[in-house]
Amino acid sequence: MVMMDDPFDLLRPMTVTVRVSAKVNLALGVGGLAPDGFHPLATVFEAICIYDEVAVTRRDDSRITLTVSGEDADQVPTDETNLAWRAVELVREEFASEWGKRGHGADIHIDKSIPVAGGMAGGSADAAGALMAAAALCRLPYSPEELQPLAAQLGSDVPFCLTGGVALGRGRGDRLAPVICRGRHRWVFATSNQGLSTPAVYRRFDELGGTPGGETVPNDLISALTRGDLDAVAASLSNDLQAAAIDLRPELEEVLTVGREVGALTALVSGSGPTCAFLVRDTAGAKKVSAAVSNLPQVHRTRTARGPAAGAQLLPGPVGS
Ligand code: ATP
Repeated sequence: MVMMDDPFDLLRPMTVTVRVSAKVNLALGVGGLAPDGFHPLATVFEAICIYDEVAVTRRDDSRITLTVSGEDADQVPTDETNLAWRAVELVREEFASEWGKRGHGADIHIDKSIPVAGGMAGGSADAAGALMAAAALCRLPYSPEELQPLAAQLGSDVPFCLTGGVALGRGRGDRLAPVICRGRHRWVFATSNQGLSTPAVYRRFDELGGTPGGETVPNDLISALTRGDLDAVAASLSNDLQAAAIDLRPELEEVLTVGREVGALTALVSGSGPTCAFLVRDTAGAKKVSAAVSNLPQVHRTRTARGPAAGAQLLPGPVGS
């Protein structure tokens, strides 16, 4: 039971749940390492209908707890290193008086479907969900637009995970501009038995010589998306990190080849990998690719999903639940 300092506390919901989606990078242009230690990017994100749900419940003491259920839950940290935890702490620090005079803590629960360490922004999506839930819990403005500055403090992919859809990301990927996308895309994703560390992939990218000037806006892709020309979209997909991911995990090459051979329009590594993404024309194409790559020993599981999906969305639920 929460002790009420503020009569309006009675009107506050106790739990807010937010649904967040995974992403795939349709293009990932990576420039040379800058003095600040980051690589400038020009990337096109697409949100995908694979969802995590993040529920934040206020506690009457100051503790924060975090639990995880769902796929690969055992691989997700349940301490302050979890990005969702950091999101709640950030709201509590930045908006101490709105959060609650008693410095309430929170119970965070994540129900995971987004592959962990798969290059699909699972942690960033959870951070976006926790941020929106925490803001809504303390009656702060919680629209994706209003939360952008806080999101950028949590990680480069977090702002996009709030907005969803299709967007061009520049800078570290956090300076977003929406991209018009006609039509929907069908995808097959093949996850790996073992994750890949994003910093390790960037290090290998540098060791391999990088792509100086790689942060060029992919105008052909953006135009194909706007026209809704699926074949032109497929022909324009690109990922500058793919060579580095394959250098670290040579077995990914075979996964991509098998998918192409059975009719994927394009096959590419998703973000920093190791998940492989296949764009397909229709449901029959998705079944073929899924069946072929799921036989490979290096593939953990396959998932089919549509894009683009919405960004972070509050789920309806009873106030006070
Ligand atoms: P990105 O595509 O943004 O580079 P990713 O999808 O490759 O990220 P994540 O699923 O975000 O990878 O996980 C990367 C690491 O982050 C994990 O190994 C895990 O230790 C840590 N992590 C922190 N918070 C979370 C979270 N909420 N869910 C999953 N992993 C998390």
